[in-house]
Amino acid sequence: MLIDTHCHLDFPDFDAERDEIIERARQAGVTQMVTISTRVKRFETILAIAEKYENVFCSVGTHPHNADEELDITAADLVRLSAHPKVVAIGEAGLDYFYDNAPREAQAEGLRRHIEAARETGLPLVIHSRSADEDMAAILTEEAGKGAFPFLLHCFSSGADLARIGVDLGGYVSFSGILTFPKSQELRDIAETIPRDRLIVETDAPYLAPKPFRGKRNEPAYVAHTADVLAESIGVTKGEIAEITTENALRIFSKMPRL
Ligand SMILES: [Zn+2]
Ligand SMILES: [Zn+2]
Repeated sequence: MLIDTHCHLDFPDFDAERDEIIERARQAGVTQMVTISTRVKRFETILAIAEKYENVFCSVGTHPHNADEELDITAADLVRLSAHPKVVAIGEAGLDYFYDNAPREAQAEGLRRHIEAARETGLPLVIHSRSADEDMAAILTEEAGKGAFPFLLHCFSSGADLARIGVDLGGYVSFSGILTFPKSQELRDIAETIPRDRLIVETDAPYLAPKPFRGKRNEPAYVAHTADVLAESIGVTKGEIAEITTENALRIFSKMPRL
């Protein structure tokens, strides 16, 4: 049994066969999925998917790529929308300096609003951080000083310092298919240093399919391949990694029921 804590089931990639994809996930032992919001404007669509399937939950928030389009969304708006029983997280928000699709000031402002909503609701903030380790560490440290908030560093591909700072602030670290790529030895080494009670797994589908599906469209069923590599990296069995990551996911996504 595994939980895919991060996928994008609303993306058009899945329109033609969403039922089949969710069924394949079930057959692969994926009990629950969290479909992650990238635009609050699309919230109705995401919520409709979460409402259709008992084992699909969702988040509400604005991806850093779209930060400048949604600066009209306040922390209070996020809090209000997150009251729906199927909404179990805030985000994804963060900093992406690899693509720089939105101005960095807009990304930071959006991130801080999402932090405020996570602090107020107690729902975990799904953080997207790419090529922005120093600024992310600074914002998380400063904001945690104002009051704790639950968070996870999703699709972790940053350096060891950000992992350590995140863990020290109470955060969780989520690994995607990147962990399975041959060149990701540094990431596997970082995984070994993270306390076991802070490790979770995700697909980030339709992106980043793990080995042996690399380059193809990803889907929640494939999370097992990332979990297998995580198990090897930290020296536990497949059964143990399933239990560890599932218990951790249910702890951080505290509003998501055990199914
Ligand atoms: Zn992301
Ligand atoms: Zn994502």
